Amino acid sequence: MTEIRYDEFLRNLGPNVHPVGYLYRGGTFSMGATPTAAYEALKVLIDFDLNPIGVASAGMHQCGVCQFDGPFGKSIDIWIPHGSTMFVCPTLVTHYIAAHRFLPPSDFLDAVLACPDMQSMEYKKAFLSAGGSEIRKLISAQM
Ligand SMILES: [Zn+2]
Repeated sequence: MTEIRYDEFLRNLGPNVHPVGYLYRGGTFSMGATPTAAYEALKVLIDFDLNPIGVASAGMHQCGVCQFDGPFGKSIDIWIPHGSTMFVCPTLVTHYIAAHRFLPPSDFLDAVLACPDMQSMEYKKAFLSAGGSEIRKLISAQM
């Protein structure tokens, strides 16, 4: 059996699903200065206490990019709808930006800045119009 990487699993959920920031040891990623406003907005979104949508793969994960003693904690997927596109990133993405200078794609950062409060009806509507309901079904079917 071939093991597929988790970001590939997510990408296979649909052509509109765009995983961002699933970094792994030995992989390459773009580096640079992430705008402060986008970083701060992302910090709010990754607070999983604010994420009411049940599409989450909770598990323990350690940063595989740190050379030593990477942060170890609960990791869930954060879903960021933007029009018909559904971005998804791990909670560790802010660590990757802060500690490893990971630079997410600019369309992802635009989506982060435009993302409504996750507890709002606006967020739920955006989630559904980006195919959130179908994605949730596909994930539950594979768990
Ligand atoms: Zn790290």
